[in-house]
Amino acid sequence: MYLGGFQKNSLIDFPGTIACVVFTRGCNFTCPYCHNPDLATGTARPDRGVSSGNSGLNPLNLSQSDNPDQREILKFLDKRKGMIEGVVVTGGEPTLQADLTDFIQTVRQMGYKVKLDTNGTAPKVLDVLFDQGLVDYLAMDIKTDIDHYPMVMKNPGHLDRIMESIALIMKKAPAYEFRTTCARPFVSPGIMENIGKMIRGAESYVLQPCSRNVDVLDPGFAAVDEHFLSADDMVALKAAVLPFVKDTRIR
Ligand code: SF4
Repeated sequence: MYLGGFQKNSLIDFPGTIACVVFTRGCNFTCPYCHNPDLATGTARPDRGVSSGNSGLNPLNLSQSDNPDQREILKFLDKRKGMIEGVVVTGGEPTLQADLTDFIQTVRQMGYKVKLDTNGTAPKVLDVLFDQGLVDYLAMDIKTDIDHYPMVMKNPGHLDRIMESIALIMKKAPAYEFRTTCARPFVSPGIMENIGKMIRGAESYVLQPCSRNVDVLDPGFAAVDEHFLSADDMVALKAAVLPFVKDTRIR
């Protein structure tokens, strides 16, 4: 896998599980508010620690030889058995990695639970992971309603994959959440109603206000006040989606 960072400890990324976090490089979306721009563009170095928190950030001492990053992470996991319970694989977009399934399989064989974060553009990859019982928790970002998705997709021809992934996750994931980073023009009460219809009956939906105090993919986007939401705006978004997903939360 092309790795962009590694966080040794996290208590917040995998619900109910002490986990480490593996960050992959490269993404097929261009969300202007993306908080990991160097991962999204694929420019993050594999020896970079990545996190919004301030603990467990020590990057591994990774060399540049034959796929050393992945090997070092597996070595770390081997030593931490019993201390860490799970591994979060996030990005970038992890499903773009050709050897994602092999990596997860190895991690599972070591006894770790796995959470995967995805933007939902690879339902075939998700289907294989579900059928092989390789993922314990799936988190899918819902960027906006289906009409507005082309605003963030490099290939809008893949639009049908979003709905396919949603259906697959609701049917096969052992545990999951859908989540939306809330920023205009990607959300509004009307758009939230449409999203509610897309994920109607889902177990869990999380709304996160978009933070402007971090580096983002498009600095020009962060400079526009109108893109950011107040607490009252967030409550209105939640109200619009509640009729469709009872467990809708603002995080
Ligand atoms: S899908 Fe995620 S990693 Fe990719 S650009 Fe959007 S926020 Fe960034």
